[in-house]
Amino acid sequence: MIWNRQSSDDDARTQPRNDEAGRSRLQPDTAAILDAITRAVPDPFIMLDGSGVILSHNRQATELTGQDMVGQHLSQHIRAPAVLEATERVADSGVPDQVHYERRTGGGRLFEVFITPVPALTGERVPAVAVLLRDLSTQQQLEKMRADFVANASHEMRTPLASMTGFIETLQGSARNDAKAREKFLGRMLEQAHRMRRLIDDLLSLSRIEMNLHRTPSDQVDMSEVARYSAELLATRASEAGCEIRVAAQPGMIVDGERDELIQITQNLIENAIKYGASGRGVDVSVSHDTKRVRIELDVTDYGAGIDAQHLPRLTERFYRVSVQESRSGGGTGLGLAIVKHIALRHRGNLDITSRKGEGSTFRFTLPVSSELAKAAE
Ligand code: ADP
Repeated sequence: MIWNRQSSDDDARTQPRNDEAGRSRLQPDTAAILDAITRAVPDPFIMLDGSGVILSHNRQATELTGQDMVGQHLSQHIRAPAVLEATERVADSGVPDQVHYERRTGGGRLFEVFITPVPALTGERVPAVAVLLRDLSTQQQLEKMRADFVANASHEMRTPLASMTGFIETLQGSARNDAKAREKFLGRMLEQAHRMRRLIDDLLSLSRIEMNLHRTPSDQVDMSEVARYSAELLATRASEAGCEIRVAAQPGMIVDGERDELIQITQNLIENAIKYGASGRGVDVSVSHDTKRVRIELDVTDYGAGIDAQHLPRLTERFYRVSVQESRSGGGTGLGLAIVKHIALRHRGNLDITSRKGEGSTFRFTLPVSSELAKAAE
């Protein structure tokens, strides 16, 4: 077997071997079956003859290397010695093998490569070799996100727990016989317990929404009624903060959705507007059509300090906060906008945030008008 390990980018450009040498040895039926199977594989997939020449590959493999490769030697496109040696070994021994392959071009991706002998494909003594590349980068990113999330959630839980432990120790020690101190510390412990409760409620909400993410909701929900109802629920909270909630909602704003989740979105946005807005200037909530009348827009506007542009793209990440101190003092968990984003996704909706420093912010949630209304308008 002759393996061209010396090939370089120049080889790939100046010595293309599009003679389809290996393929011409295949029976026409075999070639057609091979192409059909190759196309059906969802990951990048390449079939080689026993000498390393490419017989067939799918579109995903072309996307990886940027060109058609049939008739060329594998080493013109994948230069990693580990992959080339493994393919050679598999052709020699007839035993499957698996190696890792890091492709640096195109932003760098890590693959697990499954190399399997395919006897009798070419009618030669040496088996053909199937090469399947499974992208591990996405999986690695997901694993990292999951690990970060667990670390963040544990850290968030540990903080109130540490405060409560401190208060208990004080009550057992120096404040044991001090009725006034006992009252004060019990009050603080209750605050911390409420904080843990909010955190757990939000985490459970998030996981429930994630579980239903691919089930499109289909109830008919009136977004104007949702806006008025949410404002009513928060009226006491708003007046305690010296803030008025004004609602301007048009009739007939019907969407396909799940009412409870749409209330949760609206409530989270109004709650934030109360917390971070300027109390004396109130909060405006409006519900209307877009100009083409195909989407419904719910705007929640506050007149607070606003948000620096650099933070805007990250606000919907779990636990991302501009100021942890400010968020905690308002009873925040850092999960509210992550919940909003997930509910929006499930409803094929969007969240757009515009903010002007020193003037305030508008959180706009848009979603398609109900399919029944859309059909009637056609
Ligand atoms: P939190 O529980 O901290 O309020 P959210 O996920 O609801 O968590 O919001 C994330 C962060 O976005 C907040 O901590 C705050 O820094 C910022 N934020 C959200 N809404 C507003 C707003 N209306 N005005 C200014 N900042 C906001």
